[in-house]
Amino acid sequence: MYQKSDPRGDSPVSIIGAGIAGAWQALLFAQAGHAVTLYERSDAEMTLATSHWAGGMLAPWCEAEASEPVIGRLGIRSLDLWREHFPETPFNGSLVVAHARDRADFERFAKLTTGHVRLDARGLSDLEPSLDGRFRDGLFYAGEGHVEPRKVLPELHARIEAAGGTIKFDCDADARDLDGIVIDCRGLSARDEQPELRGVKGEMIIVETNEVELSRPVRLIHPRWPLYVIPRGDNKFMLGATSIEAEDTGVSVRSALELLGAAYAVHPAFAEARIVEFGSGLRPAYPDNLPRITVDRKIAVNGLYRHGFLLAPALAELTLGYVQRGAIDNEVMRCV
Ligand SMILES: Cc1cc2nc3c(=O)[nH]c(=O)nc-3n(C[C@H](O)[C@H](O)[C@H](O)COP(=O)(O)OP(=O)(O)OC[C@H]3O[C@@H](n4cnc5c(N)ncnc54)[C@H](O)[C@@H]3O)c2cc1C
Repeated sequence: MYQKSDPRGDSPVSIIGAGIAGAWQALLFAQAGHAVTLYERSDAEMTLATSHWAGGMLAPWCEAEASEPVIGRLGIRSLDLWREHFPETPFNGSLVVAHARDRADFERFAKLTTGHVRLDARGLSDLEPSLDGRFRDGLFYAGEGHVEPRKVLPELHARIEAAGGTIKFDCDADARDLDGIVIDCRGLSARDEQPELRGVKGEMIIVETNEVELSRPVRLIHPRWPLYVIPRGDNKFMLGATSIEAEDTGVSVRSALELLGAAYAVHPAFAEARIVEFGSGLRPAYPDNLPRITVDRKIAVNGLYRHGFLLAPALAELTLGYVQRGAIDNEVMRCV
């Protein structure tokens, strides 16, 4: 175990896994002056990563409806880090809307979350003209942002290289073969050493239409899942995401119907949209659905569950603080 008296400020760092967790670790360690090598078994397209399938919402206030306060604490810190390192990240906020039959769930969502203002129908259509006349009111979380995973991952990788780091794609790494500080960010693949990890399936669909314009993620209150529509640019929208205790990677007819139905409920013009892609990813989760940094002979960062994009920057900052100063975050770190 690394001790405070064990300065490793300039040790080389090997990071396994270039998904959102590993990429942020590599960026902060490289910028802090470490010789960083990032190993990734996927090619640069990152199709083997759960991160490839994500919505990319940076939504600590909305997520408070169904998560522990630590997600909010780390998430709000991460927003600062996204802003600092990627100033072009859109922080246009998020909208939450509901149809009349889900009114009670909408009010419950409003009560369980902070950071929002309530908009009437006029306020909603001022913000998102495409939603004019669609909903009686909505909740606007002005401080939230979103990134496009398939664009931001390559940007992160480029920044790591610009900071002097090396990335080895198509490279299946084994921690036992690596020197220096090893940070394991393998997501669900780390189950060989952390058997309590499980995969929580999230399904998504990408559609294309020029009939709807949105500037921010729109969440539709739904009795089972937080369904949302995220604008992706080029007239594309991601519809997400189910949350199912299963580890196959297909998309069921039922889920597809629910996701497409949610889009149609947000705006009927989605009925004419072209389906571009169906897909799913397995969110790596511990039994408590909370992230964990485990410090043993190596450091493991995992369990990012539904919040990888939201939490990865803050988790990287914590790991760096531990390696450089021995700083321990009692809520997130476990020293074995
Ligand atoms: C549909 C869906 C929507 C989501 N929406 C959001 C959202 O809006 N906001 C949000 O914050 N989160 C969201 N998430 C959650 C987020 O995607 C995950 O929390 C995150 O991707 C986990 O990142 P990770 O880096 O831990 O794992 P991964 O992205 O899976 O990365 C692990 C990497 O390790 C590599 N690897 C494994 N073993 C090895 C090895 N031996 N050698 C080399 N490389 C190896 C893998 O190839 C992989 O690339 C969503 C998830 C899904 C499925």
